[in-house]
Amino acid sequence: MFSHNKRLQYTVRVNGSNPGLANLLLEQFGGPQGELAAAMRYFTQAVGEDDPGRKDMLLDIATEELSHLEVIGTIVGMLNKGAKGRLAEGVEKEADLYRAINGAGNDSHVTQVLYGGGPALVSSAGVPWTAAYIDTIGEPTADLRSNIAAESRAKIVYERLINLTDDPGVKEALGFLMTREIAHQKSFEKALYSIEPNFPPGKLPGDPRFTSVYFNMSSGDGDMSGSWNQGENWTVVEAADAAAVDGGSGFASVKTTETEMDTLMAMATRTQSDPSADPLTGAELGTADKKVVP
Ligand code: MN
Ligand code: MN
Repeated sequence: MFSHNKRLQYTVRVNGSNPGLANLLLEQFGGPQGELAAAMRYFTQAVGEDDPGRKDMLLDIATEELSHLEVIGTIVGMLNKGAKGRLAEGVEKEADLYRAINGAGNDSHVTQVLYGGGPALVSSAGVPWTAAYIDTIGEPTADLRSNIAAESRAKIVYERLINLTDDPGVKEALGFLMTREIAHQKSFEKALYSIEPNFPPGKLPGDPRFTSVYFNMSSGDGDMSGSWNQGENWTVVEAADAAAVDGGSGFASVKTTETEMDTLMAMATRTQSDPSADPLTGAELGTADKKVVP
């Protein structure tokens, strides 16, 4: 069960009204790399998890992400406090009000006009939150890798937001949230490498004829080599030598019944293009140098 602690996980101290910044911070509230996406990602994985250690970790981190959602949502609300009452009560001239909700030049109509100053489950561009942000597949070695990448992206968005604000309290709280994504990435990496073997993901091995082949699919200057495509781990196949890699003809075939094939050929004949035809078309009728119509 869940219960709520009235204190925030990190104390929010906002120096002043800044509706524009509030709008940008929505990215980490209802955006694809945001805290709701993180919380729902780990919560759903935890509920389906059969390994007691991973289940416990995923529930702890999911619950912490909800605490982050509360922190970032509270910052959004605080940054909007100044403009919120003014907009709701309409006590000043329209132009002054317009300036108030536009902060430091950033359009804040999403948080102000649409949502009355509170955080909404949308990204900074106003795109509604969607479960499609979560790519869980139900195989821990694949999901942990995706979780590591999700934490990396969240860290980067926080880093960019930190660079955007000079409000020391906001900077500090965002720094905490950013740091926790680093800690989560470390936990997920440890959990991933605690599964042996963890590569390739799943149970089926790859076809050994293809698992260590690098297809150099481009021709011309500019080929680069590194450990990712050269050395003892790789067999390089050049584009110029390209043939069907299975040793077959490379042409597709399908078995059909005689009746299916007869019907298919009837359709192909009916829809055949005549290579000797040069019909006058609407595109030509509309151009300046049109053919003479007899
Ligand atoms: Mn978080
Ligand atoms: Mn996290």
